Amino acid sequence: MDFAYSPRVEALRARINAFMEAEVFPAEARFAEELAQGDRWRPTGTMEELKRRARAEGLWNLFLPESELGAGLTNLEYAPLAELMGRSMLGSEPFNCSAPDTGNMEVLVRYGTPEQKKQWLEPLLEGEIRSAFAMTEPDVASSDATNMQATAVRDGNQWVINGRKWWTSGACDPRCRVMIFMGLTDPGAHRHRQHSMVLVPMDAPGVKVVRPLTVFGYDDAPHGHAEVHFEDVRVPLDNVILGPGRGFEIAQGRLGPGRIHHCMRSLGMAERALELACRRALDREAFGKPLARLGGNGDVIADSRMEIDMARLLTLRAAYMMDTVGNKVARSEIAQIKVVAPNVALRVIDRAIQLHGGAGVSGDTPLAYMYAMQRTLRLADGPDEVHRAAIAKCELDRHRLAQ
Ligand SMILES: Cc1cc2nc3c(=O)[nH]c(=O)nc-3n(C[C@H](O)[C@H](O)[C@H](O)COP(=O)(O)OP(=O)(O)OC[C@H]3O[C@@H](n4cnc5c(N)ncnc54)[C@H](O)[C@@H]3O)c2cc1C
Repeated sequence: MDFAYSPRVEALRARINAFMEAEVFPAEARFAEELAQGDRWRPTGTMEELKRRARAEGLWNLFLPESELGAGLTNLEYAPLAELMGRSMLGSEPFNCSAPDTGNMEVLVRYGTPEQKKQWLEPLLEGEIRSAFAMTEPDVASSDATNMQATAVRDGNQWVINGRKWWTSGACDPRCRVMIFMGLTDPGAHRHRQHSMVLVPMDAPGVKVVRPLTVFGYDDAPHGHAEVHFEDVRVPLDNVILGPGRGFEIAQGRLGPGRIHHCMRSLGMAERALELACRRALDREAFGKPLARLGGNGDVIADSRMEIDMARLLTLRAAYMMDTVGNKVARSEIAQIKVVAPNVALRVIDRAIQLHGGAGVSGDTPLAYMYAMQRTLRLADGPDEVHRAAIAKCELDRHRLAQ
């Protein structure tokens, strides 16, 4: 594996870095102020302006490794770019590279019909609409995708959809026009053939966004995480993706690139937290010395640097494996980084909070919100334990084969 970034990636890194400094970081406070004034569940002018500017600079749709519709970058090339985007709480939306749209666009690129692509992929690529992924349900353990109970029942030339979903990220946003719904279509089939993915327009009669959930009190507006109820929602049969019974297969595919992006962004957030920690440690004095020279604070900073660098190498390795041997063979590496990246980011942010004293847990620094965001990733991308089980299986299988 070559550790050097290619000249193209170096050039893109420089451009994204410059855009983050000139446009994104200064917009963070404006974005928060806009939300604080009035209705939180509407798009902000700040974000729409950032999108226009990033697009004008050609910093748009940089993901999509397998398609000519993106920038033609491999996962390995995209990783350092996503890391830079992850430094801001505004994330990668200015670059049209944010979840869950990225994962949904990948699904449509890979499995969508020409009509589905025309109707939903094109406006998503343009950044005109947003989308959501509705799999998790309040009533069943959703870390196991085969558990889903919400139903999509065939009736003539339509699917009739019923059930309750929650943590449907993005569904509160008025720009969200479509959901990829995962539902039970054939309870009698093999466990992995019982479910299907169906495109459900947000304005279909019977779709009810019941409430936005909060994460440690944060609502993540205007994106949000919604509880959504489906009551006799009817959509055409053609809205099924790939075919009935193929939902689990798509869910497995969706665990690939779209989801390691989170790890790349986690490292960006960890870098920003470490930067804030170092500044604080140098600028603030207690007991006659800068915090950096008190107790074990040097070790604290050193530990954060080492852990971030180790996690970055693991992320790049997972990306490299995905590019060279494919997601299936790289499943252990993908699972490894999904455990390591948010856990490292959490430790680094926690140390930065500690160095900031009371300010660290307040709303006056971004650290508390960063902590909340990273903590969710130990669940939202599948619980750590499920990834650990996958890693252990790969490891044990190798030895079983050798015996
Ligand atoms: C902020 C946020 C955003 C999200 N966005 C989305 C979204 O857009 N769309 C969507 O569909 N879902 C989304 N989710 C939901 C997320 O994917 C689920 O919460 C996750 O899959 C776990 O499912 P569950 O909550 O039902 O937990 P459960 O399945 O009930 O699991 C609970 C716990 O059981 C333990 N456990 C489970 N399996 C194992 C195992 N094999 N070994 C050992 N222990 C185990 C773990 O400790 C686990 O945390 C989001 C969640 C959050 C917090």
